[in-house]
Amino acid sequence: MADKIRVRGLSVYYGELQALRRVTTSIADRAVTALIGPSGCGKTTFLRSLNRLIDLIPNTRVEGQIFLDDVDVYSPGVDVVDLRRRVGMVFQTPNPFPKSIFDNVAYGPRIHGLSNQRRLEEVVEQSLRRAALWDEVKDKLRHSALDLSGGQQQRLVIARALAVEPDVLLMDEPTSALDPISAGRIEELITELKAEYPIVIVTHNMQQAARIADWTGFFLHGELVEFAETERLFTAPKEPRTEAYLTGRYG
Ligand code: ADP
Ligand code: MG
Repeated sequence: MADKIRVRGLSVYYGELQALRRVTTSIADRAVTALIGPSGCGKTTFLRSLNRLIDLIPNTRVEGQIFLDDVDVYSPGVDVVDLRRRVGMVFQTPNPFPKSIFDNVAYGPRIHGLSNQRRLEEVVEQSLRRAALWDEVKDKLRHSALDLSGGQQQRLVIARALAVEPDVLLMDEPTSALDPISAGRIEELITELKAEYPIVIVTHNMQQAARIADWTGFFLHGELVEFAETERLFTAPKEPRTEAYLTGRYG
């Protein structure tokens, strides 16, 4: 299948600390790619580099290239606001705005200039449906998003990301703050959304990666040690360090 993102020789530094070491890989379109590896190995840094959220952290340096379709996202002239719309991100702790459910989802489209109320209502409904949340909230769109459960908040944040018509969805440990049932719903949702979007998910949960990912990358100390089809990576890792991690020999 076509690749949506190609990463070439990506190194990222926080001051003196090198967090990624010449990472080269590709992210397939309409597939789920899981990133696994111990804490501090660079998974979040990798996601932040893809949509240039890394630019917001002082003293960082990025080397290498990241092509979204065929454009290097670090080349001059790239509209970073538009890049972040196209490469949406969902975090570990659901972070709805302290606004109504409706206004959370309408937020991005409004910022991007949509003001027609009927059209906004359509976008909100469609986004909530795609995030498998509509039926639970359709009668309380004006209620505060903060009154939703954690799992519902996470689906709301996904709806908010979908409302601006992204090209890619990044999710950084999206289920690790949720109970198992809510986590299962997010996994189901990810499996549905991959029909439309390339999804990159960081997870601490290897069973989760095995269940939902088509591709899996294993990071260790800033290096992408191995990247393969999920089943192959889990059943027949080629790298001894991958095998050591999978069998529980690193933290
Ligand atoms: P992971 O998501 O795999 O746990 P991170 O990408 O968050 O790993 O971190 C990779 C390395 O970069 C770690 O050594 C971490 O301490 C460091 N790091 C992460 N974020 C920052 C930051 N904002 N400033 C300085 N160092 C950071
Ligand atoms: Mg992280």
